[in-house]
Amino acid sequence: MTRAALWVVAAIGGALFAPPAQAYLCSREATGVGPSHFWPVRDVELNVYDKAGEEVSVADIEAAIDFAIAQWNGVECSDFVLRRGPGAQDPRAVYDWAAGAFNENVVVVRQKAENDAVDDWLHPVSALAITTATYVRPSGKVLDTDIEINDAAFVFSACDPGPGCTVRHDLTNTLVHEVGHVVGLDHPLSTQPGAATATMFASAPEGDLQKRDLDQDDIDGICFLYPTGGETGACYPEVPREEPPDVTITEVGGCASTGAGGALWPLLVLVVRFRKRRPGDTS
Ligand SMILES: [Zn+2]
Repeated sequence: MTRAALWVVAAIGGALFAPPAQAYLCSREATGVGPSHFWPVRDVELNVYDKAGEEVSVADIEAAIDFAIAQWNGVECSDFVLRRGPGAQDPRAVYDWAAGAFNENVVVVRQKAENDAVDDWLHPVSALAITTATYVRPSGKVLDTDIEINDAAFVFSACDPGPGCTVRHDLTNTLVHEVGHVVGLDHPLSTQPGAATATMFASAPEGDLQKRDLDQDDIDGICFLYPTGGETGACYPEVPREEPPDVTITEVGGCASTGAGGALWPLLVLVVRFRKRRPGDTS
């Protein structure tokens, strides 16, 4: 992913015109090759799994997802539509091959194995949340996205600043960002103008509320991908392949936070995992 970003900068830098204003980047395979990720449909349903976090209730998660959906749906230059469904049946962040088009895009909090052996946070502790996308490798067509919130290592809050509310890691702030990954946006390069204030910026210190509202750069990103009435945009082209299409899974981004003693804007944490489909693979 980093190499891909550098390629973009190098390509722009070789031209004699001014670099474009945008900082947004399309999601793509973490190796920095391959096409942009995109949904072949423009109506995607997210389902919250019925499990509360330590400090936030299921209703809090649903409200935060509703808020996040409203932010991205409210962009007028895009006709991509997100909806919250009736709730997830399965807490796993996997693509169910048997379910096919009926896969659930899950939103779930993860805690520790001693609390729930089935529902553990299995990613690096420094990641505040992770969105896992399953997609067709040659085309970039997204089949499934699942959001996991790291309630094992961070304290989340779900309230607006004011009397009685101490903002910790704001759940809404986190989920507006993660839904941007669902849409197909990656983290912008921190060196790009406007990146640090974008919702899709890679890290969020405790108390951050900046990502609740989309920046113009985030709006430009979704409108590039799914312009109203227009063809789906691509930052990177499809990759011709002779072999049958396979599918890969990648964790789009480990969205970092400041930990104890951490810098205000810590180093980007990217957590990547991908694999090819194998016979008998059930995940
Ligand atoms: Zn992220």
